[in-house]
Amino acid sequence: MTVSPAYTDPMLEMANYQLDKAAQHLGLDEGMSQWLRTPERVLKVAVPIKMDDGTMRVYDGYRVQHSTALGPAKGGIRYHPNVTMDEVTALASLMTWKCSVAGLPFGGGKGGISVDARSLSTGELEALTRRYAYMILPIVGSKQDVPAPDVDTDGQVMAWFNDTLTMLRREADPAVVTGKPLGLYGSLGRARSTSRGMAHCTIFAAERMGFDVAGATVAVQGFGKVGSHYADIMAHDHSATIVAVSDVSGAYYAPDGMDVADVLEYARTNGGILTGYDQAQDNVQLISNEELLELDVDILAPAAIEGQITGRNAGSVKATLIVEGANGPTTVEGHEILVDRGVMVIPDILANAGGVTVSYFEWVQGLQFFQWTLEEVESRLLTVMRKAFDQVWNVAHEEDIPMREAAFLVAVDRVAESMLTRGLFP
Ligand code: GLU
Repeated sequence: MTVSPAYTDPMLEMANYQLDKAAQHLGLDEGMSQWLRTPERVLKVAVPIKMDDGTMRVYDGYRVQHSTALGPAKGGIRYHPNVTMDEVTALASLMTWKCSVAGLPFGGGKGGISVDARSLSTGELEALTRRYAYMILPIVGSKQDVPAPDVDTDGQVMAWFNDTLTMLRREADPAVVTGKPLGLYGSLGRARSTSRGMAHCTIFAAERMGFDVAGATVAVQGFGKVGSHYADIMAHDHSATIVAVSDVSGAYYAPDGMDVADVLEYARTNGGILTGYDQAQDNVQLISNEELLELDVDILAPAAIEGQITGRNAGSVKATLIVEGANGPTTVEGHEILVDRGVMVIPDILANAGGVTVSYFEWVQGLQFFQWTLEEVESRLLTVMRKAFDQVWNVAHEEDIPMREAAFLVAVDRVAESMLTRGLFP
């Protein structure tokens, strides 16, 4: 089997480990594996801004296009202090496999700025976004590379990004970025789409594993854009019992279940943070994020950041089903332990593909200057998720391999076939 070089980023290690396995399974030669592994285009930019106190600061920004074999590069932009070139490269390659497994006409890209966005004022955030948009403009476009929100970026950031490009190119292009606000060519259903797709995967998996989601216990790590909506959908639409949620302030545990609407309201009126929620509710206790991962629950949804389930704690995870809302929440070692212990893991590239799927719908609507109804978006999302899930599930069972391996097999096969059919230019 091909052995990839050692990677400094655990997500890159996972992506390339799975890619190598898939390439070997598909009988691809070493040159092809190398081509699939290598990002097509990597851009590093300086992002200088003037701070509110008059000083100047320079941040490092990145945009990586891992592959455009299936279509324009597609993927979010994250603002986080941990952002590095390796991390963005790993996330870009995960986007290639995610778009492929979902059957979308997109390749994979990712961008980011190494910054603690929460420490910036709104004005500083806008200046940062506009300068970054300007710096990566040469490689961005609705038929080239289409950014979207990711960790600590949102519709407002996408609106500034879109406006900057509109001003510079002097043309309205609503398809150049997705995850935009509704009033600015956003799509109905985009805000909850990642969580909605995760919920679909949870139901499909539970059906096949033979348990009922109604009344099942769920722990959700991360109460941000993905985790909060997932908890809400699971509780309200599927009658699951949410026993724990967490954010940077800690994890909040209610063994008999919590009222998700109340948690959402608390976060909304408390600056988006759950600090003090254990004091606000008698039945809720404060535990650590690490303890949340090891709770005795039916379903665990890591929906925060990468590298959470590792060789250190995978042996103590008690959930029977893990639905990965974050990108790369499980390391290679952690995953192997989970698989050996018979835990069903629905991998990130499938479980959280609902977000980019509705981004695809938003892109199509943008290209046509036309808005779909929420029903149309949601029913098409269900169709995409069901098809992708069934395909991965069937491959996993036919080949007797874990869902992550099967998802990569489906994804790599589609990308490799496109590359081989198109041939090598020039
Ligand atoms: N950032 C999201 C992801 O990792 C969405 C990407 C997109 O919509 O392009 O899947």
